[in-house]
Amino acid sequence: MSNVETEPAVLRCGEPAGDERGTPRPQLPRVEVLAPREVPLGGPRAMTVRRTLPQRARTLIGAWCFVDHYGPDDVAATSGMDVPPHPHTGLQTVSWLFSGEIEHRDSLGSHALVRRGELNLMTGGHGIAHSEVSTARATVLHGVQLWVALPEAHRDAARDFQHHIPDPLQLDGAEARVFLGSLAGATSPVRTFTPLLGAEIVLRPHATATLAVDRGFEHGLLVDHGHVRMADTQLGPAELGYLDTGNDTLTLTNASDKTARTLLLGGPPFEEEIVMWWNFIGRSHDDILQARTAWQDGTDRFGTVEGYNGDRLPAPALPNATIKPRANPPRKGTR
Ligand code: MN
Repeated sequence: MSNVETEPAVLRCGEPAGDERGTPRPQLPRVEVLAPREVPLGGPRAMTVRRTLPQRARTLIGAWCFVDHYGPDDVAATSGMDVPPHPHTGLQTVSWLFSGEIEHRDSLGSHALVRRGELNLMTGGHGIAHSEVSTARATVLHGVQLWVALPEAHRDAARDFQHHIPDPLQLDGAEARVFLGSLAGATSPVRTFTPLLGAEIVLRPHATATLAVDRGFEHGLLVDHGHVRMADTQLGPAELGYLDTGNDTLTLTNASDKTARTLLLGGPPFEEEIVMWWNFIGRSHDDILQARTAWQDGTDRFGTVEGYNGDRLPAPALPNATIKPRANPPRKGTR
């Protein structure tokens, strides 16, 4: 997916942490509720997504730096998704569908169908380009597009594309699909550059699931449909609940008589400072400028996407105002 906000802001994430020594830690883990905002993706097919990351209150959860949630959209009524070839640097894209089908083409030569329950992870380290078009076979489009920031040592990694279909895992009160990292004894074989967790968890009606998690990870729980209590906090559809590091277990409760579907994301806090603009992640304004110029000039940094019917996406104009950095809020307590 392409980030096509009309006035993309430059974000600077992972600023040095603040310190609030002397603040007692509460006994119950405190969940911060991150509400989505609706963002039209523009273009010929005006699809709208619900974006929970980045936002003013938080820019990263682990290395997860972008969470777009969309659908269920009737493709016949909304025209579905049609994102022309566009570039990425310094990040990985994670496509995960609840329903529908998307045709992916990239400048590595990959031509893949993204389907429900199948992970597609694309590495756009130094530079890659791709297009995404929902197919006519899928009548309902529903899923998420996630981005992962690459750490300094790997942000110029070679282009890559990985595909994985996790086996559904039956847990007490829930069914899980672990597409990245490890949860409940299942481990994804997909390679990442920082430790990450990515899993779909469907809670049965009136069920509670208690999951062992890595206490060095912070976590985000996105509710797709239904209502879920995360620790002691109720989350509604499209909300993202954030939980800091320091927890050995995570308890999710669905008190309703319908199933609830969630996505659990996690990772150790990403401490590097990054600059994010349009579809690029760098470390400085100059990195962004170089990537944008290379894309606009059609250099081989991003390669060519074959088989897309139409023109590629031009980059928006760079802001000429001083770049205003944004950061995660100061971290609470001491660890
Ligand atoms: Mn994209």
